[in-house]
Amino acid sequence: MNEISVPRPNSLDAYWMPFSDNKYFKGDTSRMIARAEGMSYYTPEGREILDGTAGLWCCNAGHGRVEIKEAIQKQAAILDYAPTFQLGHPIAFEAASRIAEMTPEGMDRVFFTNSGSESADTALKIALAYHKARGESSRVRLIGRERGYHGVGFGGMSVGGIGANRKQFGALLPYVDHLPHTHGLKENLFAKGEPPAGAHLADVLENLVALHGAETIAAVMVEPVAGSTGVLVPPAGYLKRLRELCDKHGILLIFDEVITGFGRLGTNFGAERLGVVPDIMTMAKGLTNAAVPMGAVAVKNGVYDTVVNGVAGGIEFFHGYTYSGHPLAAAAAIATMQLHQSEDLPGRARAIEPYWQDAMHSMRDAPNVIDIRDIGLIGGIELAPRPGKPGARAMDVFRRCFDAGVLVRVTGDIVALSPPLIVEKPHVDRIVGTLTDAIRAEA
Ligand code: PLP
Repeated sequence: MNEISVPRPNSLDAYWMPFSDNKYFKGDTSRMIARAEGMSYYTPEGREILDGTAGLWCCNAGHGRVEIKEAIQKQAAILDYAPTFQLGHPIAFEAASRIAEMTPEGMDRVFFTNSGSESADTALKIALAYHKARGESSRVRLIGRERGYHGVGFGGMSVGGIGANRKQFGALLPYVDHLPHTHGLKENLFAKGEPPAGAHLADVLENLVALHGAETIAAVMVEPVAGSTGVLVPPAGYLKRLRELCDKHGILLIFDEVITGFGRLGTNFGAERLGVVPDIMTMAKGLTNAAVPMGAVAVKNGVYDTVVNGVAGGIEFFHGYTYSGHPLAAAAAIATMQLHQSEDLPGRARAIEPYWQDAMHSMRDAPNVIDIRDIGLIGGIELAPRPGKPGARAMDVFRRCFDAGVLVRVTGDIVALSPPLIVEKPHVDRIVGTLTDAIRAEA
């Protein structure tokens, strides 16, 4: 093992770690990451950890890509920062045009944010502004879905459907409702790809329309594939049905493509793979390969036109961030999108998907595995919880895998896998071998 020369923190006290068991981590610092390259992370001691999760679903092109690093360095030397409120700088416009080339046809207008959470809140605000501009100010209700994750801003958290993310914070946005989640553990057990049963769950939108009135509903927001709550793949036909109902009732459909964007499902965006085009699409993570924080919201041209032409002059949309379209992030995004194209990363994901799928389902007979789900380069392995200790088994599996040199991610008792799209068969074998051993050891 080659120890890496990185500064060691003198104290762990000051940093309040996000979504973490701070007490546990600070008591056992063996899970520190110091460096990354290709498919792997390295600890400060030089131990290699194979990345089975692309960081947090975001380093789709693999780690330490020289092309992205050089683009950021070059841009930092040209223009570190310039405002984009009533001003512009060329690279932000170029980044937006590149995104528009990747999004579905007719969805060519792009608003920049700095994260998935900001993209979610921005998308919801665009939906409200759109209806107001059309003279339908009564459309203020936002519909999410149980077990949906749209980040941690007040909008995304309210529309999201994760109890644990909400209960510390009391009152959230009013006028929010939720569709049922689509996880059919009984009907769709060990389904491969899109599960067969459950398209009818979209029809619950009709009940919400009957309850509240279509004239009060602005938007429905869902992830094409829910990742953070344990890899919930939409039942075949579900998203199409949702699209039809939104059209019928004049409701905007928002896809949160923060993890499904940029090749994860073997296509540029989940919309393409799943054959349904939303009105608004959020993105982040893979947009810059996570090298610089950046998010974006793409909208259909008609949505943009409605909001922008809705006022005679002056600012049309009272929203934006100091760092919207930040030059370094824009440079990283352009370099990342060039890599997607030159290395056909979505194509690589498609090519290895059958191998990945077989590998995922090979864990079926491991002890306590109660379901396995997959689509694109995503896998979810659901474990039976330890009696009275939800989440404990999967957390022990996570720690055991890390100690054995493989990074997996857990949510509740579900192990979620999402390797960089440059993953090769031997990596897949190592991820699955290590994970299977860990699941056996925790039986
Ligand atoms: N939306 C989805 C679907 C996500 O998976 C995530 C993060 O995992 C977010 C939004 C939030 O993104 P961020 O953590 O960049 O705010």
